[in-house]
Parts: sequence; C-alpha cells; structure tokens
Amino acid sequence: MQKKELLYEGKAKKVYRTDNPDLLWVEYKDDATAFNGAKKGTIVGKGVLNNLISAHFFQLLAEKGVPNHFVELVNEREQVVKSLDIIQVEVIVRNLAAGSMAKRLGLEEGMDLGGPVVDYCYKSDELGDPLINDDHIRALKLAAPEQVKTIREMALKVNDILTSYLADKNIILVDYKLEFGFHKGEILLGDEISPDTCRFWDSKTREKLDKDRFRRDLGNVEEAYKEIYRRLTGREVQI
Ligand code: 5GP
Repeated sequence: MQKKELLYEGKAKKVYRTDNPDLLWVEYKDDATAFNGAKKGTIVGKGVLNNLISAHFFQLLAEKGVPNHFVELVNEREQVVKSLDIIQVEVIVRNLAAGSMAKRLGLEEGMDLGGPVVDYCYKSDELGDPLINDDHIRALKLAAPEQVKTIREMALKVNDILTSYLADKNIILVDYKLEFGFHKGEILLGDEISPDTCRFWDSKTREKLDKDRFRRDLGNVEEAYKEIYRRLTGREVQI
C-alpha cells in the first residue's frame, strides 16, 4: 500500500489518499486543541499513543462484532482505515455525569446516571457542535431514523464491551464520543477512541487519565496518556 497526497488536515490527524480508493492513511498528530480550537498546545507523544490506543480498541471491538473502519497499523503514528462517508453527528455515550452534561444540568461530576445516556451533537465547528435530538437529525437529513437506531445500538454495544474491558484494567469509562459513516452501504464505526475522545478515571482514586488534564490545566498530561496505554497493553512506549 502506498501513501499518496494529503486530503485533509484536522485538529488531531492528517488524512492521506492511498493507491486503494477504498482506504485512507491516517497520521496522528501531537497537536492538542480544546474548546472548539480556542485552546491550543502540544502533548508530546500524543500522536503515537492515540494511534496505538485507538488501534487497540478498534481491534477489540472488531473481535466482539462491532463493524469498524480499522484495517492495520502502518507504524507507531499511522494507520490505514476504510474510507467513510461520515455521518455529521457526534454520538456521545455517558455513564457518569461530567463535562458539558454536568454543567448544563447542574449535576455533580461523577454522579452515576443509572444506565447509559446517549447524546447527539451536530458536527459543526462553526456552531460549536450543538446538542441535537433524533428529530433534528431527520429534519436536517443527517441520517434516516432507522440509521439512527442502528448507530444508537452500536454505540450501546461499544459501551457494554468497553466498560467491562476497562473495569478489569481499573479504569472507569465516564463518557466518550463516537463517529459513524458509510462504507459501501454499510454503517461502520469510524474516527478514533482515545484519551482525546473519552473520559477515563482511575477506578480507585478517580484521578483523570484523559484530555481533561489538558483542558483543565491539571498537569501530567503525557503521563496520563502513557498510563492508559500501559494499562491496556501491559507495555511501555518509547517516545
Ligand atoms: P462533553 O460533552 O463533556 O464536552 O464531552 C463528552 C465526551 O465526549 C468527552 O469524553 C469528550 O472527550 C468527548 N467529546 C465530545 N465532543 C468532542 C469533540 O468535539 N472532540 C473530541 N475529541 N472529543 C469530544
């Protein structure tokens, strides 16, 4: 497989064409942004860690029957994925109240929600990814109702798989964001699953092991990402 020209550069990744029209080549960057790009920085080694962590989760999910875009790791910072026509909806699954939900509803961070809560946001940097519901998705023609049903079921299956998998590694999966897209007519899970897109807390101390360390200036950001990689794989990564 050959890496061809750059198609798109996002906040955390660069996407390249390949010699196979069905596949894309993704390079993970160390750049970090928060609050819709208002806060910028670099997390040394983040690209490597998120590439490896995301590949780990996508392989696990494929084994457990969640169809997804992951094809193969090319090196520590790059992976090949199936090309998706992305549905412009961010699917957020929450197990504990945190972040924007805690703020919006006046809840204490860490409150148990008694079962998963699924939120949808319209993927729009211009509008700041506003919260939407099933009816908005239909009205904006972002996806058909039966597709929303499929996506919700897939997101909840991911939740069952990852919450129990992570619990064994002493990690609470507080919440996370997923993206989906079409590949040859099939809905696949896409994008990434990493400390950039999830809240991970240590099960005992509730220490934050994710991007909130960057968003909230808590320090030890690189160490938190490394700790997640270590708990998932039992290995260290040289950065
Ligand atoms: P919140 O709604 O509290 O901002 O985010 C809920 C969860 O979804 C968090 O785990 C957060 O990391 C993830 N998330 C929501 N929106 C985005 C986004 O635009 N980019 C990334 N990387 N993660 C997001």
